[in-house]
Amino acid sequence: MHRYHTPLDLVRERLPERPVAIVRPDAVALAARWFQENFKGDVFYAVKANPSPWVIEALVSNGVTSFDVASIPEIELCAQHAPGSRMAFMHPVKSRSAISAAYFDYGVRTFAIDTHEELAKIQDATGGARDLNLMVRLAVSAEGAAYSLSGKFGVDAHEAPALLLAARRATQELMGVSFHVGSQCMRPTAYQAAMSQASRALVRAGVFADVVDVGGGFPSVYPGMTPPDLAQYVDSIDRGFAEMMVHETTELWCEPGRALVAEGSSILAKVELRKGDALYLNDGSYGSLFDATHSRWPFPVKLYGERDGEVRQLEDGLKPWRFYGPTCDSIDHMPGPFWLPEDVREGDYVEIGMLGAYGVAMNTRFNGYGDTETVEVADAPMASMFGLAKRSIASPRQDSQNVVKLSRARSKKRRRK
Ligand SMILES: *Cc1c(COP(=O)(O)O)cnc(C)c1O
Repeated sequence: MHRYHTPLDLVRERLPERPVAIVRPDAVALAARWFQENFKGDVFYAVKANPSPWVIEALVSNGVTSFDVASIPEIELCAQHAPGSRMAFMHPVKSRSAISAAYFDYGVRTFAIDTHEELAKIQDATGGARDLNLMVRLAVSAEGAAYSLSGKFGVDAHEAPALLLAARRATQELMGVSFHVGSQCMRPTAYQAAMSQASRALVRAGVFADVVDVGGGFPSVYPGMTPPDLAQYVDSIDRGFAEMMVHETTELWCEPGRALVAEGSSILAKVELRKGDALYLNDGSYGSLFDATHSRWPFPVKLYGERDGEVRQLEDGLKPWRFYGPTCDSIDHMPGPFWLPEDVREGDYVEIGMLGAYGVAMNTRFNGYGDTETVEVADAPMASMFGLAKRSIASPRQDSQNVVKLSRARSKKRRRK
């Protein structure tokens, strides 16, 4: 991977023709160390947020050696870049062949279930294995999160006790509960509330859990979305755990995706055309900008361009812009608003920040675009939950606008397993 000190150095030296994923392994390292030091349990990285090999390697070198995986390709990736790591197959619906391969070829022992049928399937596909760790995924409320992860998965409260009991009987190893409070969860108390829901299900089933897995959902910083300090999330989880009916050796796990990697990557896109209040870029919603289109997230931006014979960062005279991506599909539109100088020109470069989570991971090759190169830089991300940079990103519009955006995003219960 090529290295530059800053994105500006990259633009000066290369004037890249293709979109560039600008990566900051130091930001991922800092986040990994924060979770290692502050979360009082085991941290599993949710690989889907960003499956880049450099991410896996940065996490492993900073102590995160457990992975939440959802498919055989994700398992292969971890086996290759984090040999010997612990993997938990947390997708509640798996194919028989994926279960067998995970169990027999990759040594995976931890599997999530949210139905009796899936439990039977796992028992069958592992040849009646008794050494499974079975995690029962509960549906919980996603109040305060940008994306719900309970719409598609999770057993509901009145069916949970029977499934917990069945899982308890099916294994001599660990039986646990898991849930996901929703991605980009802005409310720390959501964890404590979900844990109390889990506790009620366990009491009703009359079983103890060996593992309480609080899932992902830990937030990052985006314009107009400044989350509470992550320490408050850990406090809420500690309080929730203290109130649960568990035994002394019960383990606490979490599965952060976004919070570990959001700061770790930007995209550098080239302006191919300026038309009215729109900029046509060489990356878009079929590339790394899915959320900018489908959830209308106004990611933070910077502009670099050549003026008077010198390539520099341009910051004066900001106005709101919309972006179009490179494909012929009209959906390939990002309403923003993205605040960039009035004087944007064709051939300038836009750095779109905070795209380390669910950015590059969502890239497709639709319409012949999406081929992205990756370079490493050493400067700070545009914002940070971990003290590398400022904690909030001002949005030149009123914050109330962004509250509207968040609730609009929330009402779109979309994707993500
Ligand atoms: C996506 C996912 C995560 C990670 O969620 P974030 O909101 O990115 O932290 C964790 N666990 C499961 C089961 C997931 O599907």
